[in-house]
Amino acid sequence: MTVTMDAIVSLCKRRGVIFQSSEIYGGLASTWDYGPIGVELKRNVKEAWWRALIYERDDIEGLDAAILMHPQVWVASGHVSSFTDPLVDCKQCKKRWRQDHLPKTFAVALVSTEDSESSVTIARVLAEDADEALKKIKSTKEWGSKPKGYWQVEGEPQLADPVCPECGGELTEPRLFNLMFKTFVGPVEEEAAVVYLRPETAQGIFVNFENVLTTMRRKLPFGIAQIGKSFRNEITPGNFIFRTREFEQMELEYFCKPGEKCKPGEPTDMDWWEHWKAERLNWYKRFGIRAENLRLREHGPDELAHYAKGCVDVEYRFPIGWSELEGIANRTDYDLSQHMRHSGRDLRYYDQERGEHYIPYVIEPSAGADRATLAFLCDAYREEIVEGRERRVLSLHYALAPIKCAVFPLLKNRPELVEVAQKLARDLKRSFFTVYDDTAAIGKLYRRQDEIGTPFCVTVDVDTMTDGQVTLRDRDTMLQERLPIEKVRDVITERLRQAWKG
Ligand code: ATP
Repeated sequence: MTVTMDAIVSLCKRRGVIFQSSEIYGGLASTWDYGPIGVELKRNVKEAWWRALIYERDDIEGLDAAILMHPQVWVASGHVSSFTDPLVDCKQCKKRWRQDHLPKTFAVALVSTEDSESSVTIARVLAEDADEALKKIKSTKEWGSKPKGYWQVEGEPQLADPVCPECGGELTEPRLFNLMFKTFVGPVEEEAAVVYLRPETAQGIFVNFENVLTTMRRKLPFGIAQIGKSFRNEITPGNFIFRTREFEQMELEYFCKPGEKCKPGEPTDMDWWEHWKAERLNWYKRFGIRAENLRLREHGPDELAHYAKGCVDVEYRFPIGWSELEGIANRTDYDLSQHMRHSGRDLRYYDQERGEHYIPYVIEPSAGADRATLAFLCDAYREEIVEGRERRVLSLHYALAPIKCAVFPLLKNRPELVEVAQKLARDLKRSFFTVYDDTAAIGKLYRRQDEIGTPFCVTVDVDTMTDGQVTLRDRDTMLQERLPIEKVRDVITERLRQAWKG
């Protein structure tokens, strides 16, 4: 089944997952609010990341640094001078584009066979490569409507200057545009008071490297992880929560010895890079993303920052095509060196065994919480026909499911059923997120919970009054089992626990 972005956006709106921000004022483009279901989902994604890194390992510390930082941080990190995107405008339709995101343009020379002397027409098409360009030209209406053999392609399609993807118009020369949002500290909007909304969480980690190292008495290798909001004044935000101007990152800086400081057999910086590639890929799979929808894409030399020894993107097959979920880079000693130079503080690590100071290398797996949430949503979404009716279900991993259990009375006009169901829901709430619902008929209630990925539904019926048993329904198999009411908590707790382990 192909999942479309429209299906995901519509489900999110209908079921309280994600809303357009400031909707009553007409909305603010590309900004989104997580509703009651979405906030749980995103919290669970972040919790899954935090647990895997901080609680399940013993070499990583957590951090929550401020969004506003000393402006020199961004001078040192290079963001003030070079955190820029090339911006181009369409001279015709005035749309604005990021030059490095424009699809390639190919010019295809067409010769009319009827009037071979004079007519050479150059057609411009957007395509990935020359083959695709040819195919595209041959599938145009113009091509098809001419008498057979009217046009001939002359030579190979050639790469050409990009044109506007919207209207095919000519584009302006690129201008560099800094993506950082500026604001002012204090009442006077003067240059001295300028601060930036952080465009990444990573720098909060680097400037706290020494604090964490000494207070937590760490030795290399060790990591510092943080989750938090970042802001980028993106030129072309879009594709729902894939690219927004305000988003959340989950970043780890894993400090390790540079290869040449390692003893034989000791993992080097490049070994740790490999380690983190595998770990991060496995994390997505562990929480439910199918292997065939994930891949690693190594950056070519033209994409690699000058200081980086390697960078790979974890990509997901989104409805918009393969796109980045997370970047994993070996950033060498670049960031700590820069902060050392600009702050004047000695940020070197003292290696007792070697009896020397040096600057650690760092491996950075940097993920987006919103993009991960979108990927989990897309991968879990299914439409299927059950007993002649369409069923939409989010088969989310139990750990990510916003609501773990929903309790219903089979008949809402029977006070004794309602009372038992409400009491059960109250009891279960103390162990995991449970809701009580009696606002529709049972079939509809099941469907509602399926659509938001609730793994378990419990129904209290007339028989419960005599046999003390309830029906437990499984979201994925739709199988129903009867079990004593007092066992419900333990059964669900155990299934949730097993899912975390798996
Ligand atoms: P892109 O090439 O997509 O702009 P990037 O390479 O600039 O991304 P990084 O700086 O490596 O991204 O940021 C790490 C992660 O943060 C990304 O993999 C992505 O998941 C997330 N992220 C970055 N920019 C955005 C954004 N504008 N909206 C949502 N998530 C983002």
